[in-house]
Amino acid sequence: MIVEDTVVGPGKPWSRVVKAGQVLRIVDLEGRQGVDFLCYSDANSEERYHAANTLKQARTLRITTGHSLYSDAARAMFTLIADSYGLHDTIAGCCSAPSNGLLYGVHNVPGCRENFLAELAKHGLGQRDIVANINFFCDVPVLAEGRLEDLTFRPATSRAGDHVELRAEMDCLAVISNCPQVNNPCTAGAPSAIRVTIRTGT
Ligand SMILES: [Zn+2]
Repeated sequence: MIVEDTVVGPGKPWSRVVKAGQVLRIVDLEGRQGVDFLCYSDANSEERYHAANTLKQARTLRITTGHSLYSDAARAMFTLIADSYGLHDTIAGCCSAPSNGLLYGVHNVPGCRENFLAELAKHGLGQRDIVANINFFCDVPVLAEGRLEDLTFRPATSRAGDHVELRAEMDCLAVISNCPQVNNPCTAGAPSAIRVTIRTGT
């Protein structure tokens, strides 16, 4: 049964609690759209996504089907049960007004951090609750000797209909910023809509 079915517009945020066992599906409707993602235990929001535990357990920077997102308490929060793309960024974090100034020289241009802050405020959370996040449908290759590319992100290559499915392993608040970025290639310069659904069962 579908319990949520929302089209999140270009550059917009979204959040909802996903109950244990439910499946969150994120569809890149038009392709080439980065989707920033955070999650928190609904029972205790101090327990939240932890990039380091996730990467150490996965033993790769490239999480995909079969990998889980782990919390700071080393408990599985979500498991990727479907992934049509396979190039999700786990290290570059979210864009923001301050980092847009630092990296691209544009000022007062809000990004995913500002989206996260707006959405987290609905749940009594704020700046101190933003941690290093996952960027679905974003390609951040690590080059020889650990270098990153000039704009960090390679031009987005996801295609219309590419999707991920995340099965909740505990009741989780999922928070999305459908990235508004136009100063690096993670939205191909034209942010577009995504579709977010939640279903019960597999
Ligand atoms: Zn962004």
